[in-house]
Amino acid sequence: MNSPLDKIKSNVRAITAYTLAPLEAPIKINQNENPFGMPFALKEKVMLRAMKHDWARYPDFVPASLLEKLATYAGWRADGVMAGNGSNEMIQSVVNSIVEKGVRVVLPEPTFSVYRQVVNVAGGEIISVPLNEDLTFNFPRLASKIVTSKADLAIICSPNNPTGCTISARDLATIARNSDGIIVVDQAYREFDDGDFVPLLDEYKNLVILRTFSKAMAMGGLRVGYCLAAPELIREFNKTKMPYSLNFFSMTAAEIALENLHLLRPLVEKIRLEGERLFAELQKIEGLSPVPSAANFFCVKTAIPPKQLFEALHARGILIRDVSKAPMLSEYVRISVGAPEENDKLIASLKEIFEP
Ligand SMILES: *Cc1c(COP(=O)(O)O)cnc(C)c1O
Repeated sequence: MNSPLDKIKSNVRAITAYTLAPLEAPIKINQNENPFGMPFALKEKVMLRAMKHDWARYPDFVPASLLEKLATYAGWRADGVMAGNGSNEMIQSVVNSIVEKGVRVVLPEPTFSVYRQVVNVAGGEIISVPLNEDLTFNFPRLASKIVTSKADLAIICSPNNPTGCTISARDLATIARNSDGIIVVDQAYREFDDGDFVPLLDEYKNLVILRTFSKAMAMGGLRVGYCLAAPELIREFNKTKMPYSLNFFSMTAAEIALENLHLLRPLVEKIRLEGERLFAELQKIEGLSPVPSAANFFCVKTAIPPKQLFEALHARGILIRDVSKAPMLSEYVRISVGAPEENDKLIASLKEIFEP
């Protein structure tokens, strides 16, 4: 008898699952989350509105009021917005709309590993463009590879997870202008970075912007992501997204966050300032060299093996991300910016490890 596993697509069998070890620690700086959490006043508003809602009913088929608020927030049109269950779902929907067996997809790497996973499942062919030695985007190489490979899709993460490098609006426009393919820019860390690509959407109909409430907006547990693009593209992407994937509770929370940005902005600003302080402190530690980053995390080169540093910090109650399995990053870890006391503890622990 044949094994049922024979029925699983070979490209699925060939890849390994996206996983994260279920480790815990008092200081959790391994997933680039907002260390302050969602403000209590916001949570309260969400609960109150949710209590008035009929939980037995399906959520809105088109979350019109959230889409309106997202459009206002982003400076784009509501019929050019799709929202769903995290930006991971947006990545999946966009990729499934475009990629099938043999379709070429350009990825600058190292980058967010979900792109590779989703493209592989869809059967696409990945064309990887390495970053520069200093972990910045290699713009000339990237731009030319997208054109010469006749890629139907490129996914550029800016600020890039895990390296923190960015692409400029000018370079992105050049890429979008010269390519027939769809150019996705994942701006999961948009709130920490000044780069705004929305003004390009009108002119470049092949440009797609992805964003999330999981990082700066302190809602990783609620799973809300959104996609900004030309209305014609959004209409197609919506066909590949599951209906009702955005539940009413998360939809409500996202709306309340957008109605109360004054409660979130100071936290984002605090994280930015803490990031500057952390970067300066990391630079002072002999054996560590942090890579400049436009987001709330740093890729840090370590003189001791990344796994050993991960374990030494874990033993001290600090959870970071070992990214050493990623291409080019065999000597690196990724550290998210925490709350001030957490960063103090991190710095003290690193000094203990590197300057005993
Ligand atoms: C964290 C992260 C996401 C995940 O977003 P969700 O909205 O939580 O699914 C997407 N892209 C990048 C680059 C990320 O770092």
